[in-house]
Order: sequence, then structure tokens, then C-alpha cells
Amino acid sequence: MSETAVNGACLSICEQCKKPMRAGFHKRYCSDHCRLVAWAGRQAMLPLEPPAAPVQPLKVGPTTAQIQASQKAQTVKVLTMLQDAGPRGVSTGDFLGSYIGRFSARIGELRAVGWTITGKRESEHSWRFVLEGSDHV
Ligand SMILES: [Zn+2]
Repeated sequence: MSETAVNGACLSICEQCKKPMRAGFHKRYCSDHCRLVAWAGRQAMLPLEPPAAPVQPLKVGPTTAQIQASQKAQTVKVLTMLQDAGPRGVSTGDFLGSYIGRFSARIGELRAVGWTITGKRESEHSWRFVLEGSDHV
């Protein structure tokens, strides 16, 4: 509370609007309005504790880019091979024999849109991939 003498009378100055108010009020602010404005100003300066965390988007499904990748000709070919093979699966050699060199990237694109494809190592250089549920197709 700041006080000042005006014409010999002791007046208080509102800390918000800086207007003189009647002496003897022993308040910091002249009105509820000034008290609320000052309070709001103090809130804006308070540090956020804990600091605001970045909002994590919910994973609700594949992105447009992932869907487009899963529809590339080679990716569709990999899916067709897996569907046709059923539980027997498709081996590394089968993919390479069909000239799909980057089959693991294509499998990654299919997994991104929701296909469950398991991979089992059969030997040092060969894997066998099975489309989950393909025995029901
Ligand atoms: Zn005031």
C-alpha cells in the first residue's frame, strides 16, 4: 500500500489503477474490479509448473502417406504373394525370385497400415514371412 499526502489528507493509491482512494481503507485496490485485474496479471506471469508437455497425438490409424505406400505396385505384389502362400509363408528366395529386392521395406509398408506379418529366420540368409490369419482366407 502506498500512501501520499494530498492537501494534508492521507490518501491511499490503488495499486492497479493508481487513483487515489479514501484514506483508512487499508486495501491495496480501490475496487473488486482492480483487485481482479491485478490478480489476473499476476497469474499470467507465474511459471507453469510442471512445464506443459507437448501433446502426443493419438495413433488412430495409418497416415495418408502410409496408405499410399501400401498401394504401390510392388507392395501390393508382396501382399498378394503372402495371401496366396497362406500359412506356408513366403521366403526370402521367393521374393528375390519375383524380383522384389526390397521386400523388407514393402513388408514394413504393409505393417504400417495394419497387416500383421511375422518373420522367422530360417537360415543365415533366409527368412520366411507369414501373413497372420492368412490360413482363414
Ligand atoms: Zn483501482
